[in-house]
Order: sequence, then structure tokens, then C-alpha cells
Amino acid sequence: MKITKIDTSLYRFPAHRKIVDAIQEFTHMEVIAATIYTDEGTSGMGYSYTIGRGGRATKVLLDSEVVSLILGEDPADIERLWEKMWWSLHWVGRQGLVSLAMAAMDIALWDLKAKHAGLPLYKLLGAARDKMPVYDTDCGWLNHSQEELVREASVLVQQGFTGIKIKVGKEKRSEDVERLRVVRKAIGQDTKLMVDANLRWSAGEAIARAQLFEEFDLFWLEEPIEADDVLGHEKLRQRTSIPIAVGESLYNRHVFKEYLARGAATILQPDVGRVGGVTEWLRIAHMAHSFNVSVSPHFLMELHIHLACAVPNALWVEHIPFLNRFVQEPLSVEEGYAFPPNRPGHGVLFNQQKSEPHLVETNSWPCE
Ligand SMILES: [Mg+2]
Repeated sequence: MKITKIDTSLYRFPAHRKIVDAIQEFTHMEVIAATIYTDEGTSGMGYSYTIGRGGRATKVLLDSEVVSLILGEDPADIERLWEKMWWSLHWVGRQGLVSLAMAAMDIALWDLKAKHAGLPLYKLLGAARDKMPVYDTDCGWLNHSQEELVREASVLVQQGFTGIKIKVGKEKRSEDVERLRVVRKAIGQDTKLMVDANLRWSAGEAIARAQLFEEFDLFWLEEPIEADDVLGHEKLRQRTSIPIAVGESLYNRHVFKEYLARGAATILQPDVGRVGGVTEWLRIAHMAHSFNVSVSPHFLMELHIHLACAVPNALWVEHIPFLNRFVQEPLSVEEGYAFPPNRPGHGVLFNQQKSEPHLVETNSWPCE
């Protein structure tokens, strides 16, 4: 089998609501998509994303470098093609734009492979289970008032959600503490509560805030410190009983390995769009399993439902319904669980009518 054509597209989808965390506002999700076609008339689609900046640069990289590495290749050889992309681009790559461009292509290759096998992606990858608990992040943005936090979190608990995450990182420590107090009271002791600081603090500030948060029985404290500061996280872990979650800002297995080897994180949160696709995501998840550490993937619930179901050490899928308005069929969530679609591939299809107005550009490459 041979890849004979590749289409690439850039979309700029507006957020469904105002989204603010401790370091930024997230107004648009740029989706960089690649669709590969074969000489057998089959196709696979993959995508990665940004939170509003860098989408065009990622697409230029995909178009000018990645496409030519993949056109004419046998799509069955995913490990070989991943290494080919990595080593062809490592000089300018290893993380960031290159990782994002590689992810779109790698996910397209896995989608195609699953379609050829006639299996949903999670089944092709080994299916440790067929549903995952979801926790919600969408109720807990930093711009939400205490009343909004309480109202939305309460509704979600009634709907069956067993985990709620809220953003922290307000200027005043006391404000974070008050927000946690009202939410914990509203959701009760039996709902898991997580907090996310989006890289905001120094190690010292993270230690101080974590000590103030101890009384709320948190399930994890996420991204308290700049992502590459493994030593800072190690110090924090020694000073708090709250589990520490990191990973959405890490781009390859090498940094994850350092976190595991130093015991600097309790839960890992790899993002398939940022770590270069399914191939690297699985390496990270299996490596974590060897350390008896769980993974809880970041965002992209439509793709991560498959990956979380595929490995035995996944904890949750993160619920943020950003793409619900633009896909053919939103991810099925019932009673606090998400279910992978039962069709070949990852099953994510953008709704043409609804996504077209947000299409920035599209290109197509035939094979010479
Ligand atoms: Mg986060």
C-alpha cells in the first residue's frame, strides 16, 4: 500500500465561552489537520492544535517538510515513519511546532491503520477497557465567579461526574483558598477535586500554596511550576501530600522519563497533539506503567478516549467540550463516563457545514 495524496488544513475555531487560566486567555483553538489517501482508495485523518497562536507556522512546517517525508510511503510502517520524521527534523524540532506537525500526520496514520483493520482505534491498540470516567474542567475557569463555580460544579455532580477540576493562581493566595472552600462544600467529600495552576508559580510559591490547599483533600495539583523545572517539582513533592500532575506542556518521552526517574510527578498528562502523536503517547503511557504511575491525558477528549481505553494505567479523560459544535458527533458522555465511538478509526469527523466558516486555508499534494 502506498500514500498517494495528502491534504492539509488549518481551522480557527472560536471558544464556546470565555476561558481564562493563571497565565493566559484561550479565545481560539487552531486545528491543524492532515488527511492521507492511499492507492487502495482508503484514507486517514489526524489533527493537532494550538490555543490561538502558531497554527499557521505549524501548517507551513507540515506542508513544507512533513508532507514530502510521508508521500509515497507505506502507511503500515508507522514506527519507521515516526523515526523518519523525528530524525529529519530534530535539528529544528524535538518539541513545539515540529511535534505538533508530526502529531497530525502520525494520528492520520493510526486512523488509517484502524480503518484498514475494521476496528475502532482503542481496539486496534489493545483495548484495556471500553469506557473511561471523565472529570470536568470546563466549569472551573479562573474567570468564573465563586457563584458560577458552585452552580456549574453542582450540576455536573448531579449529572454523574465524579471529578471536578478548577483553575487556581489568583493573585491573592486567600482567593484561591476561598474558591476551593466553596467548591468542596458544594460537591461534597466523595467527588474528586483537582486544581490546575498552569505553570504559574515558583517552587517556593507552589510549596506555600500547596500547604494552604492541604485541607481540601485534593486529588491532584496540576502544573504548579514551569514544566521543565523537574527539580522544582521534586522539591514540591517532598513538601506536600497532594499528588502532583504534569505533562501537558512536555513534548517528548525524554522529559517524562526524567519526571519518572526522579519521582517528581505522581500522575502524567501526555497530550497526543503535543507529543508527536499516538506513537509517542503510547511509549510514554507504557513507560509510566513500568513505574506504576497513572496517565490522565490532557484535553482532546475525542482522541484521548481511545488512548485512555487502550492502556491499563489511565485514570480519566478530561471533559472540555470545545469541539462539540464542530464535529459530526460529539463524544458520548453519560453518568460520568465517556464511550469511544464504535466505528473504524478514531471516528472523529469535522462537520463540514459547521467547520467550513472557520477554515483558514487548505492544500493538497498529489504524488509525482
Ligand atoms: Mg492543565
